[in-house]
Amino acid sequence: MAAAEDRLPVRNPRTGDNDYWITPPSPKRLHEICQELRAAQVAWGARPLAERIAVMLRWADAIERHAQAIGDAEAIDTGRWKLSHQVPHMVVDGIRGWCKSAPALIDRALLSGTSTIYPNVSFQSQLKPIPLLGVISPWNHPFLLATLDAIPALIAGCAVVVKPSEIAPRFVEPVQRTVDDVPELAAVLRFITGDGRTGQALIEEVDALCFTGSVGTGRKVAVACANRFIPAFLEMGGKDAAVVTATADLDRAATAVLRSSVFATGQICFSTERVYVHESVHDAFVQKLVEKSNQLELSYPDPRRGHIGPFTFVRQAAIVDAHIDDALAQGARLACGGKSEQLGGGHYMRATVLTEVTHAMKVMTEETFGPVTPVMRYRTEEEAIALANDSDYGLSAAVIAGDVEEARRIGERLDAGAVALQDAGITIAILRDAEKNSFNLSGMGGSRMGPNGLLRFYRKKALMANHAAPADMLALGEA
Ligand code: NAD
Repeated sequence: MAAAEDRLPVRNPRTGDNDYWITPPSPKRLHEICQELRAAQVAWGARPLAERIAVMLRWADAIERHAQAIGDAEAIDTGRWKLSHQVPHMVVDGIRGWCKSAPALIDRALLSGTSTIYPNVSFQSQLKPIPLLGVISPWNHPFLLATLDAIPALIAGCAVVVKPSEIAPRFVEPVQRTVDDVPELAAVLRFITGDGRTGQALIEEVDALCFTGSVGTGRKVAVACANRFIPAFLEMGGKDAAVVTATADLDRAATAVLRSSVFATGQICFSTERVYVHESVHDAFVQKLVEKSNQLELSYPDPRRGHIGPFTFVRQAAIVDAHIDDALAQGARLACGGKSEQLGGGHYMRATVLTEVTHAMKVMTEETFGPVTPVMRYRTEEEAIALANDSDYGLSAAVIAGDVEEARRIGERLDAGAVALQDAGITIAILRDAEKNSFNLSGMGGSRMGPNGLLRFYRKKALMANHAAPADMLALGEA
């Protein structure tokens, strides 16, 4: 096993070459970094909220100034041009949005009043930021997922150390320059690079942890956090279902399902990964889906053209191929697309539609994370709901029906945290507005969205004042 000080190679998903290296901090250096952050957090957490917000807004401005460089770095790591260059602006919007909503939602969380149990006791709540938060993030959306939890945590007054995935860490260099532009922030926010060993070491240093990644790693992270009794907020994978009813506008349904299945090469946690269509419209829906799928082009050789880029993580192509092979061996039919193909060192896959699938197949039960849409027919609404809920996961789901009310009726019965009605894959819409919990293996530890997305970074305290004489033991007698 390599020593922690060793450099790790980073693969370019378009060329297949290792053309970048990261150097994980040694355990000693990691400990020093965390001590520095802890020391700086004391002043950061004590600052008035308005001052922290002013600092964060300066960071947003700095990201905007460096957006091109950040987008360029992320584009190399992910192989995606357009989305990678949109991400810095999404992060900027995220900072400005949380800065706008934080004062009111913190205010609402500060309770005071008179005890309903002891009328002589008044109380006042206090929110104390968790001193040092660790963030461990995945490769599929490097900058966005490295900062999704860090932004509200910093506003809350925490110091944050972020360990992004070793598969896609190039954004760290340009982002560090934006942090360095804002010295007050640089004292309480640090990005460190490394693989799972650095992730494990980080858990030993922090007071709470936000993890986004796979179920397998999430389990290890949960155990390590449980051993230290620190709060763990885990966001894992999904196998999102979409239900298309007999009354649905099939063009709308095919448009929504296709986009949510293949956008970002299907490498989004809330991608649509299985579709249940009423038997009366199954064939017509599949025809539309295939027609639309066939119009999509690979984003090769020019990363600025086409619709479907390479697999970011090379091993993902093999997993997706294995799911398709398993399905075909068990009787599924390939309506379009097929296997991954190697072009110029990268692995690509055309939009793929499978029919005649069952829940005995991996493509309907395990996270595929590729541009694959398996479609299964159902006869009754009850059956559709039972099939959609027959999953180890429960991240998000979608219902496309004749109208919103019909979709809502079904959506209310789906075991998933965020259910899109009349569209699919729009979970990000509620980021600062509504809370959602993941079901089953998709997550643990409270909503990362809505008010709790920020309030979870506080330890809630209560200060109680007794305005009467304290109870006297002599008067109380025997308990
Ligand atoms: P992964 O679990 O392989 O790695 C995630 C992170 O954990 C990386 O930074 C990695 O270095 C680190 N890590 C690995 N082993 C570790 C260990 N033992 N201790 C601590 N950290 C360790 O996940 P991935 O392949 O990078 O990401 C893809 C997965 O993430 C998919 O399952 C996807 O659905 C999921 N995901 C979920 C969400 C969500 O919001 N629910 C969002 C995006 C991605």
